[in-house]
Parts: sequence; C-alpha cells; structure tokens
Amino acid sequence: MVILFGTHPKYVEHDTGSVHPESPERLIAVRRGIESSCVKDAIKLFQPEAATLEELGRVHESSYIDALRRFCLMGGGMLDPDTVASVGSWDAAIYSAGAGLDAARKIRAGEADAAFLAVRPPGHHAVSDRAMGFCLINNIAVLAADLVAKGEKVLVFDYDAHHGNGTQEMFFEDPSVLYVSIHQYPQYPGTGRAREVGSGAGKGFTLNLPFHAATTGPSYMEALNRIVAPAVEAFAPTWTLISAGFDAHRRDPLTEMGLTSGDFCDLTLWVKQQTPSSKVIAFLEGGYDLSALEQSTAATLAALAGETTKPEPNSDGPIDFEMLKALEESRRRALSD
Ligand SMILES: [Zn+2]
Repeated sequence: MVILFGTHPKYVEHDTGSVHPESPERLIAVRRGIESSCVKDAIKLFQPEAATLEELGRVHESSYIDALRRFCLMGGGMLDPDTVASVGSWDAAIYSAGAGLDAARKIRAGEADAAFLAVRPPGHHAVSDRAMGFCLINNIAVLAADLVAKGEKVLVFDYDAHHGNGTQEMFFEDPSVLYVSIHQYPQYPGTGRAREVGSGAGKGFTLNLPFHAATTGPSYMEALNRIVAPAVEAFAPTWTLISAGFDAHRRDPLTEMGLTSGDFCDLTLWVKQQTPSSKVIAFLEGGYDLSALEQSTAATLAALAGETTKPEPNSDGPIDFEMLKALEESRRRALSD
C-alpha cells in the first residue's frame, strides 16, 4: 500500500498576513499528521507539477485566470473581504491545482494506491469567474474536469464544514460528477440547501446535506448510510475525490460542528468502502485548529491506507432523525419538480 502525500514549498509562499486563519502554519500541522499517523511507512512524499492554463481553463474563465495572475504578480491584496493574494499566491495556486492532476497520473501508472494532497490555498469556494472564501483556483474541480474529459465518472465527497459552492456550480448540470456535500447550515457561503439537486442533465447529481451546528458523528453516519449510499451505488464512480476540510472538527474556531478526528477516519473509510473499484484522492480544504488539523490528517491517512487506528475517539450524540427526515423530504420534492 502506497499513499502519496503531495506538498510543495510554494504552498507556504501564499502569504495571507499575520492574522488570517488560513495560514502557512496549517501545512506544518498537516505535515506533522504523517508522523502521528499509524501508517507513516506507507506514505510517499511527492512535489507536484503546476497545472497548465488549459487545465485551469476547463473550470475557470480565461479572463479570470489572467486577472488573478496579474493581480498576484503586481503584489496582490484583498480579492474579497476574506480572500487575500500575495506575490507568491499565483504559483501556490497553480501548483495546488496541479497536485490532483499529478497524483492521478501517478495512481493511473500504478505508482500509488491513493493520495492526500496538502495544498493551499484551498479551492472549493472558488467559482468559475471569481475567488472567494480563501480560495483562488478550484483545485478539486480542475482534476474532476480532467477526469470527466477522459470519460471517468467522478464522485466529489465534500465534508468540509462549509458548502463547496464553487464545485457545485461548476458541475451543477453535469451528470458525470456526483457532488455530495455535508456542511453546517446556515454558515458561509449560504448555499447548499437540500433542494439544490442539480439541473438539466445534472438533476439529481448534486446531493446536499445541510446540518445544524453541533451535529456529531452518529448523524453523519446515519445520513451516509441512508441517503448517500443509494446515490453513490447507483452512480458507480470510477474516481472518488474528497474535499477533506477538517473545520467540522469540534475545536475549529470558524465553525460549530461536533466531529473529532476519529470521525474523519470513519468518513474516509466509509467512502472508500462504498466505492471499492474507485481510485481515491483527498484534497485539503479548510481546518483552522492546528492540533485538530494534525490529528485529522493522521486519521485520514490511516483511513486511506485502510487502517482504523484513531488519534481521538469518535464523537457521540443522538442521531438527529428529524433533521435528516426534513432534508430528505426537501430533496425528494426538488427532484420531483
Ligand atoms: Zn471550510
């Protein structure tokens, strides 16, 4: 078993200033996750190549890519009230977007079984023509679009505590990508209601599970088994991409969800077991408590290698059947409209 761990010195040159939660220190914590995982002998480090403009152009408008590049190289600044770019951000962004493409090439060539990509800036909020929510280029979408162009069926499983509005938007009408997101609601960015199910040919291929604050692992697992499993089984993905944001950890300072790193092990194992013939690549998204990041990375690496040793026990709490019933009903109505 070989698990690729993709990281690059350019990722820390994305300078967000001294008080921004999306800091370079996050990657140091994530890197420590290798040492504290039970599978460090299976980890193979690699430095990804950059994505090309053509590869970025599959999901982003070329005018946006040009403007972003110029903005960074001119010194950067604020792209929106939350999102910062610096001189180093352009390279950080294109080498982050390239990480997925590179990992997929290596997995396809038989060099590894799965990959974890410790990238920054994160990607899932970036929309086709705009940076937002700490995200410049939508890393996971760049790979998903490349795989779709190769005829693959791609499950994007997004357990970041925020809804991945950018990823949803890019594949909203595309039946080759099943986008599944579990997130706190209401929360930034305000999208991700259960009734958002995709449109046109993509109707039914977006599956949102907006959860109340403080939701714990048992409700996550119940939702996965009851609502997500049938959709994933019917879709039969050939690739599974995980938006591995660890800000649903209960110690995260930006959100109010109730998970532990032990739960991230189970979420990752669950999706691996549901897609036995699929190749798996996890992309770092959010996660702003440094010790939670380290432990959650360790847990996710273990799960990617098929191990269940957990740095922390799972969270506990009653299953919120009422919440699950309400969102199932809302989805059912949207699908029959
Ligand atoms: Zn997040």
